[in-house]
Amino acid sequence: PIPEHDRVYFQSYAHIGIHESMIKDRVRTDAYRSAIAYHQKFIEGKVVMDVGCGTGILSVFCARAGAKRVYAVEASEMATQAREIVKANNLNDKVIVIHGRVEDVEVEDRVDVIISEWMGYMLLYETMLPSVLFARDKWLKPGGLILPSHATLFMAPITNSERYEGSVDFWSDVYGINMSALVPLAKKFTSEEPSIEIIGGENVKHIDCYTFKAEELKSITTKYKVSSMMLAPIHGFGLWFEVEFNGPSNPSDGSSDLNPLENNPKKRRRGPEDAVLLSTAPEDEPTHWHQTILYFPDPIEVKQDQIIEGSLTVSQSEENPLSK
Ligand code: SAH
Repeated sequence: PIPEHDRVYFQSYAHIGIHESMIKDRVRTDAYRSAIAYHQKFIEGKVVMDVGCGTGILSVFCARAGAKRVYAVEASEMATQAREIVKANNLNDKVIVIHGRVEDVEVEDRVDVIISEWMGYMLLYETMLPSVLFARDKWLKPGGLILPSHATLFMAPITNSERYEGSVDFWSDVYGINMSALVPLAKKFTSEEPSIEIIGGENVKHIDCYTFKAEELKSITTKYKVSSMMLAPIHGFGLWFEVEFNGPSNPSDGSSDLNPLENNPKKRRRGPEDAVLLSTAPEDEPTHWHQTILYFPDPIEVKQDQIIEGSLTVSQSEENPLSK
């Protein structure tokens, strides 16, 4: 039987709105389309599995790029529409839509390519990465291609005085009334999408989708050590991610413990220079993932060049596990 949190999760993907916002995110959708074009030579005549095909958009891209067959696996009711979309685009001979969880489905042969859009907020929030890794271990041929191939989580201390003044200090004088009693609540309120300023270097957690194991997601701890670029209050940490679309022949160098102080953004890519990169960084074009901000209850003043050091742990919650 399908666990309750899975049922609720898959129901959310039966609605059109979520697919509209993903597909309209051009940075996201174009990155996948470019990655498929980049690997077209590899994909031609091969068998692909699209893990969580949604509307079937990535499956159609792969079929048009010359895939011999695409298994489009989708657990939500959207599978029904995906099947119709495939038919309306005259691809039923190539794209086989399978309604079910990738963990439960059977296909005729092992596949050469696994493609999936699995990334959540802060990369790992409600991630379906374990399902992709499951599909990799069960269905991918040795030497097969995984798109995306590598994912990296970044974090940086941020300052956002505007937000702090606008929503925390605000309560000390409201039409001449002292409403400071609301300050603790205001400090907890973090749902807005503020403009942030990065005041330090970045730190990374790197995931190589060719080798990463689902158990490692139970709890991920990453150390950070950055030097503040200026005298400023730190209001919290900003987090974002990038994914790369490298082939199996460009394995990661595994240097997940890069020295953050020497973490040159220009050196972030592991694959060839022209390979496709999907970035959700603050300096890049916005995506529907935005950046995630973890606020401190109170700002911490730092001097220029002061070292900010610590560790961040991301763990699965019991009632809403990251893995499904
Ligand atoms: N590939 C589509 C949709 C991405 S959203 C696109 O790029 O637009 C992720 C999809 O994966 C959702 O539709 C969700 O229902 C599906 N999904 C998540 N986990 C799954 C699993 N274990 N098995 C099958 N489908 C899954």
